Amino acid sequence: MSLIITDECINCDVCEPECPNEAISQGDEIYVIDPSKCTECVGHFDEPQCQQVCPVDCIPLDPNHKETEEQLMEKYLVLTGQL
Ligand code: SF4
Ligand code: SF4
Repeated sequence: MSLIITDECINCDVCEPECPNEAISQGDEIYVIDPSKCTECVGHFDEPQCQQVCPVDCIPLDPNHKETEEQLMEKYLVLTGQL
């Protein structure tokens, strides 16, 4: 499951450099996460790094992008050129 940034985002820019998959970018109004690149940080860290640093706690899991742990690990391997 990828994460999603809600409209509570205050555009503080703290999360973007923390993402190991470069999945976060500035959108039209708030920051956005590319679900094809977000692995919940699986493969890189134990916890989603963006959630750890967001000062307003506005990055929940996105129920529209459900994935298993195995799918997230496979995505990580593809993104890092190991598959
Ligand atoms: S959970 Fe990890 S991979 Fe997904 S957007 Fe946040 S920092 Fe990036
Ligand atoms: S850390 Fe939170 S508030 Fe700051 S840009 Fe990212 S999602 Fe928005």
